[in-house]
Amino acid sequence: MKITDVKATTLKGYKDWNYVKVETDAGISGIGEAHPGEGISDAVTKRLRPMLIGQNPLNVEPLYTRMLDRSTGQSTAGILLGAIGGVETALWDVAGKAIGVPVYQLLGGKYRDRLRMYADVGRGRNRTNTPETWAERAKEGVADGFQSIKFDIDGSANELQHDPVDRGLSLAELDKMEAMVSAVRDAVGYDIDLCIDCHGKYNVRDVLLLAQRLEKFNLMFLEDPVPPENIDAMGKVTASTSIPICTGEWVHRRDGFRGLIENQACDMLHIDISATGGMLEGKKIADLADLYYMPAAFHNIVSPLGMVASAHVGATVRNLHTLELPYHADQIEWRWDLVISDEPLIQDGQFILPEKPGLGVEFNEDLARAHVKEGYDFFE
Ligand SMILES: [Mg+2]
Repeated sequence: MKITDVKATTLKGYKDWNYVKVETDAGISGIGEAHPGEGISDAVTKRLRPMLIGQNPLNVEPLYTRMLDRSTGQSTAGILLGAIGGVETALWDVAGKAIGVPVYQLLGGKYRDRLRMYADVGRGRNRTNTPETWAERAKEGVADGFQSIKFDIDGSANELQHDPVDRGLSLAELDKMEAMVSAVRDAVGYDIDLCIDCHGKYNVRDVLLLAQRLEKFNLMFLEDPVPPENIDAMGKVTASTSIPICTGEWVHRRDGFRGLIENQACDMLHIDISATGGMLEGKKIADLADLYYMPAAFHNIVSPLGMVASAHVGATVRNLHTLELPYHADQIEWRWDLVISDEPLIQDGQFILPEKPGLGVEFNEDLARAHVKEGYDFFE
């Protein structure tokens, strides 16, 4: 079997959603979702496609290595890595379909059929930030069946900042943030798991002041309290609070995660399949973390197709914590119709692992074509 073409398209979704299609001379094609954002489609078709035409699609890892090696010096972090992740996922879809098994089987087999999820509800409706709107939004997520929800706390009290860029938190910001989390706890109680994301916005000292105020709310995790690049700083935060610290959504490949894991600078990882270098790389990162008995959550800002890829990997790692649902994308009403599956992919707040060959779902090309971003082609 040989690869005959590699195509890409971009949809106007919650973000720019990017998809890769790998075609073969056996009549089998595979689909994968690359990381969201501009420039990814072009990277697939203009840079990666020539490296893949004529190759055997079943050689997924060697092809992955080829794409990385031939991209050296062209910034394999960021856009190219996001593109490579989409291609790699599409290759797994081809391989699964060709062999007649689900991708999780090719990755070593599944530990579980259903994956525990958390819903990233973001903020209050219409991106509002008051105790009342946060409480209302929390109740929406719980009413939808989710036992775990996440809010974005950075930017929720900007009107009270001393300075927009100094990484600091004023006492007034801390007061408001504490009040919003308190309102969420009052609204949903303590049986619901609650996560708070800081998006790496703060300095060590001030985010520890925030953590001290939030400890009493029994959080599932505090995410990216500081940027992830300085492992010593992240480790200081982790060692200084009882709240589990989660990081990793901006970290690339095993090389990037190694220091965080080996220094146990965080309590748990956030692995983003589409951003960090694909499905097998995501499994390898989770396995590396398991050497340190560290759990791994799977971060998602992709559409449901990318979530399916995440779920296949999450099913194959022992230390799965949770799978993220970008619940805040719920204004894109058609998003769940993008994938056609035998049964609903989310049931009782859990993700149901598809059992058909490949990724196990069909990409709804008719619907996707109707939402192609202006200026882009549909798999031309
Ligand atoms: Mg985050």
